[in-house]
Amino acid sequence: MNFDLTDEQEQLRDAVRALGRRYGHDYFVAKAKAGEHTTELWAEAGRLGYLGVNIPTEYGGGGGGITELAIVCEELAAAGCPLLLLVVSPAIAATVINRHGTEAQRKRFLPGFADGSLKVVFAITEPEAGSNFHRLGTVARRDGDDWLLSGRKCFISGVDEARYVLVVARTEDATTGRLKPALFVVPSDAPGLTRSKLDMEIVSPENQFLLYLDEVRLPADALVGESVDAGLPALFTGLNPERITVAAMGAGTGRYAIERASTYTASRKVWGGRSIGAHQGVSHPLAHAAVQVELARLMIYKAAALYDAGRDLEAGVSANMAKYATGEAAALAVDTAVQVHGGAGMTTEYGVATLLGAVRAGRIAPVSREMILNYVAQHVLGQEKSY
Ligand SMILES: Cc1cc2nc3c(=O)[nH]c(=O)nc-3n(C[C@H](O)[C@H](O)[C@H](O)COP(=O)(O)OP(=O)(O)OC[C@H]3O[C@@H](n4cnc5c(N)ncnc54)[C@H](O)[C@@H]3O)c2cc1C
Repeated sequence: MNFDLTDEQEQLRDAVRALGRRYGHDYFVAKAKAGEHTTELWAEAGRLGYLGVNIPTEYGGGGGGITELAIVCEELAAAGCPLLLLVVSPAIAATVINRHGTEAQRKRFLPGFADGSLKVVFAITEPEAGSNFHRLGTVARRDGDDWLLSGRKCFISGVDEARYVLVVARTEDATTGRLKPALFVVPSDAPGLTRSKLDMEIVSPENQFLLYLDEVRLPADALVGESVDAGLPALFTGLNPERITVAAMGAGTGRYAIERASTYTASRKVWGGRSIGAHQGVSHPLAHAAVQVELARLMIYKAAALYDAGRDLEAGVSANMAKYATGEAAALAVDTAVQVHGGAGMTTEYGVATLLGAVRAGRIAPVSREMILNYVAQHVLGQEKSY
């Protein structure tokens, strides 16, 4: 058993950490409050090859796996820049196209993922279906060689920054009521595709949208893969990278919060000579949060290693557990960091309360803690499905 990263992975970690620290949380918050995007950070990370670490070398990427992408997600978040679009674009969309797209689709899209110049966001959630994707109502029907897509999506991140949206739709001939999903690469400016921004209580430069698809006409090659049969495996392919990278982002955020908090508590003195961190009532909650984050990290990198070894089923269990554990650990870490800062914890200046909304959302999205517990109950504990 080996818990060490390779030398290359260590170098990647150090380099991404250095980049993240040059931008930092103040930059991230300033962009969010100005209603702008982290365009400079994304572009620089792309130029340096960090956004394409998981893309095969023949398409211009780094030739690594989800482990490398998790490192990028974690280190940027640990520097105070948790970029959700890393989860949707290189982790989900690029993985789906790489593993299930046609060769023409790989040639068309992967070089843009590799250098970060292409952002593709992901749209599965719908207002009526919610966590139950078997009830998806977005329909794709054929019209000659073309496809026509109609339906509604909600909470779709980053549509305003992306050139394409990877849309999950139900193919019209699925009359049995069973989901026959198909994935389509839809230009974000396609006629018939409109959006409205959701007001979210999250300090983030990345936005969520409602999407309306009204007879959006797409050419035959917008369908991911050779046929609609590629849809279900393609959808499942995206799930493990999504859970692993979102967990890595949460772990990085937890580390960031604990680092800010422990720096503060080691220097803040209100009772004469000793720092507030000398009091166990302050240091133990921080230490407890640090333990939770580190435990979650173990499961993240186990899941990533299993996934990169092609052990998808085992990776599924670990990825779900990692996502669950990190969602809880990151929320605990940020809440504890706010508490030990006292009043300063609620200021923008100390840079921890700015993460409360994001870590709270991390217990709901991209898959809620309850749906993960359902998964573990059924697939690990052998319990009957209740829904
Ligand atoms: C910040 C943010 C970004 C997002 N980005 C994207 C994106 O880019 N693309 C995208 O497609 N979606 C995105 N989402 C949507 C997200 O994936 C969903 O919000 C999430 O899957 C939960 O679905 P829901 O909101 O419909 O909740 P619901 O399904 O309505 O569930 C409501 C509550 O009931 C619980 N619940 C539901 N069913 C069960 C059950 N069977 N057993 C136990 N509990 C249950 C849920 O856990 C939850 O707590 C985003 C959401 C957020 C908050």
